[in-house]
Amino acid sequence: MPQLNLDNDDFRNHLYNQSKDGKRLWLYPGRIIGKFYRLRSYFSYFLLIALFGLPWLEYKGQPIFLFNVLARKFIFWGVPFFPQDFHLVALGLVAFLIFVSLFTVLFGRIWCGWACPQTIFMEMLFRKIEYWIEGNDKAQRRLNESPWTQEKMLKKGAKHALFLVFAFAISNTFLMYLMGKGDWLRLIQEPVGLHIAGFSAIWIFTAVFYLVFARFREIVCMVICPYGRLQGVLLDNNSILVQYDHTRGEPRGKTTSEQSTGDCIDCHWCVRVCPTGIDIRNGSNQLECIGCTSCIDACDAVMDKIHKPKNLIRYDSLNGGKFGH
Ligand code: SF4
Ligand code: SF4
Repeated sequence: MPQLNLDNDDFRNHLYNQSKDGKRLWLYPGRIIGKFYRLRSYFSYFLLIALFGLPWLEYKGQPIFLFNVLARKFIFWGVPFFPQDFHLVALGLVAFLIFVSLFTVLFGRIWCGWACPQTIFMEMLFRKIEYWIEGNDKAQRRLNESPWTQEKMLKKGAKHALFLVFAFAISNTFLMYLMGKGDWLRLIQEPVGLHIAGFSAIWIFTAVFYLVFARFREIVCMVICPYGRLQGVLLDNNSILVQYDHTRGEPRGKTTSEQSTGDCIDCHWCVRVCPTGIDIRNGSNQLECIGCTSCIDACDAVMDKIHKPKNLIRYDSLNGGKFGH
């Protein structure tokens, strides 16, 4: 049975976005528009509309959701909870943790790829703005490495201005969930002097969201997110993950008269489009894989071109795929 090509296992020694001397390597994930990207885009539009729209809706004069920690007032799907209901919150949290664990055992990182706010904002909003203004990965790299010309200043200025606008919008939406629509409207309509703390919160959250999406990016998923770091203990061989079928793909490379190879032509498209910069062919359940499906779309496009069956990279479990791990 073909084995994973781990001759060069240098990838185990450092993060993909880190050079050997520990410096950050800026990632330029390429854009691939395939079946999964389209589905994720449609789903993300629905989620973004819900996220930005829900704080404006009221049910029986109350917000649908409210998490006002300072006033100790919580509303969940229109049902108010007070501090004396805390045991219900505790029970709800335990049930939620069990649900998340079982869901992850079954469906792996579907949440990360399809619904996590970090992925939705990064890949479906900020990254799209970046592609729109700076172009695809190669154009972005060229722009970053070029000297500061008027064109570069315009592009960078426009991009970061839009990033700030959206970070500001996210910050205000976040505050609306914390304080409710009424208090938020008062905060932005009344003199700054009456709401020093509220205005400081708006700008602190704006700065945090801007830095997360303009600078930290994949570091949030690879280093900071506790859910990502728990994957190693939540997943097993039956969990459904984005997997490379090495039994079909290896040995990778070009078939010549001297050697016959598997279906992977080693074109690196799957690596080029990965937002965390990893090579899915190094094995499933890599901590850095957020299950975004870009590598599936990229490889399917390659398989189409070389007239081979799709799904060399696909959603599967180790046991279901019989990958001979
Ligand atoms: S995109 Fe597919 S064919 Fe190309 S390197 Fe990745 S797995 Fe191999
Ligand atoms: S390996 Fe594939 S699914 Fe995982 S983060 Fe990279 S592109 Fe997304």
